[in-house]
Amino acid sequence: MLTDLVTAGNKIMINFKNNLKPLFMKKTHLLTMTIAAFAVTLFISGCGSSNKNEKTVKEFQEFLKAYEAKVIPLFHDVNLASWNAQISGKDADYKKSADLQYQFSMIYSNKDDFAKLKKFKESGAITDSILSRELIILYNAYCGNQYDTTKLKKIIDFESGIEKKFNTFRAVVGKDSLTDNQVDDILLKSTDSKKLEETWLASKKAGKNVAEDVIKLVKMRNEEAKALGYSNYQEMSLKLSEQDPKEIEKLFDQLDSLTKDAFAKLKDEVDEYYAKRYNIKKEDLMPWHYQNRFFQDAPKIYDIDFDKYYKGKDIVKIVEAYYKSMGMDITEMAKKSDLLEKPGKYQHAQCSDIDKDGDIRVMASIKDDEYWMGTLLHEFGHAVYDKYIDRSMPFTLRDPAHTFTTEAVAEMFGRFSSNPQWIKDMIGISDKEKAEVEDKVNKNLRLQQLVFSRWSQVMYRFEKALYENPDQDLNKLWWDLVEKYQLMKRPKDRNEPDWASKIHLVTVPCYYHNYLLGELLASQMYYYVTEKVLKSTDFKNQSFANKPEAGKFFMEKIFKPGAKYYWDDMIEKATGEKLTAKYYAKQFVN
Ligand SMILES: [Zn+2]
Repeated sequence: MLTDLVTAGNKIMINFKNNLKPLFMKKTHLLTMTIAAFAVTLFISGCGSSNKNEKTVKEFQEFLKAYEAKVIPLFHDVNLASWNAQISGKDADYKKSADLQYQFSMIYSNKDDFAKLKKFKESGAITDSILSRELIILYNAYCGNQYDTTKLKKIIDFESGIEKKFNTFRAVVGKDSLTDNQVDDILLKSTDSKKLEETWLASKKAGKNVAEDVIKLVKMRNEEAKALGYSNYQEMSLKLSEQDPKEIEKLFDQLDSLTKDAFAKLKDEVDEYYAKRYNIKKEDLMPWHYQNRFFQDAPKIYDIDFDKYYKGKDIVKIVEAYYKSMGMDITEMAKKSDLLEKPGKYQHAQCSDIDKDGDIRVMASIKDDEYWMGTLLHEFGHAVYDKYIDRSMPFTLRDPAHTFTTEAVAEMFGRFSSNPQWIKDMIGISDKEKAEVEDKVNKNLRLQQLVFSRWSQVMYRFEKALYENPDQDLNKLWWDLVEKYQLMKRPKDRNEPDWASKIHLVTVPCYYHNYLLGELLASQMYYYVTEKVLKSTDFKNQSFANKPEAGKFFMEKIFKPGAKYYWDDMIEKATGEKLTAKYYAKQFVN
């Protein structure tokens, strides 16, 4: 299932999204250059410096020892407190959790420690592959937290203020004051063009409500980035999460050219469907006709009922049996998990690695339907990733290679709940029934992916331009991008800050591109396993159920290395290629 909710594998990545953004949402940075620098220093350093190098290595090892002594127990307490707060929903538990998070973040803003890390890095003495990986990760983690604490606190408070304005905003239509869910519901279900227009326009006032604040926030973030030596916040965010802005742009350009024509064709079909649905001409379709505030989800053109396959079934048992059939045991983790709805409990799903030492839990509020089947597959995808990371590695490397790599794994497994082959293997439908839904399913999946992919282009490019120049005509920029990538028509003479009605700009800045990178990697892994591990050319009918060799690939090649390698190196070692849009295009475009 495609979602832009922030449900990263490691909860810590969520917890710290506000005060430790560069640190945990994005684990961190300047890779190729740093490694090249190491290599050069190694080459030119003569014998005389080897004693000095040994001394530096020792000092770094001492540093790591002290660091782990501080971090490991607190990491556990922070995660447990947050887990408990999300279960109970009590203010006191949330307060305890926030206090611990603050303590934890303080470790990384320590100026003396950062100065030491800088010295280690610049010395060129740390050449051991494990140690140098730890150094890079810690350097980036500290670097992103070196900004003046008073100013940082101001930014965090300002963010929370905007978030609150978002949360309390209600779209007013006539006499009705509507929640987001009600707005979504009207856009999804109504066929009355006038009502749709009014509701959509009312929902966009959320943007106008905060636009000035968002621009101010962007400028504050840019100031922070400049103080830390970056040209703007977007560049800093990417670099501190070990993503080269040029490489990311190249991937998005590649994906744009791969999806452009297929999307245009599909969009025409979508428009035809909508013209009929609303009984209007195709050229009269406006943004409010797309059943969604941003046209980020696929329209419900193909009518398929998957819920019936899961009705009355124990979906926890199914997910356990599925992973077990690939040789992955989730029984203990499922026992520790909290999977049922409770009053006050967090309503979305998430997976927490409490201690990076085997205590891994999933939080959900399951029902016997397709949504929760997919969600459980997704969250336990994060869980198996965490579980099978090599625990003999140092604490700092016991993390997924990147947030988007764990998202890719979760996404790939999560896609199966609406996959006819998977349903056949796990639920047991007949070949005839499978054949009947197959065509619709594939069309639907393709539509979903293409719609989301084009929308992601808008978000990624808008944010990039926003941080490069927050003083430009942003209202125009937004609609230029929407017209170009989503092929939606801008309402006549529209000059409003509609971009500001997307809360992600405030709460998870410069992160949106990772959703799409996760999708690309999910397809790349799916193709690799099908072709190279299972030796099959049937790319449609794979579920990996009862295929321990597929499980072995994931456990050994993707999970086990953790953060030992730079993410693109891990992908290359596992699949023989660096991250590419090629397989995503094969799966969903061609
Ligand atoms: Zn996830």
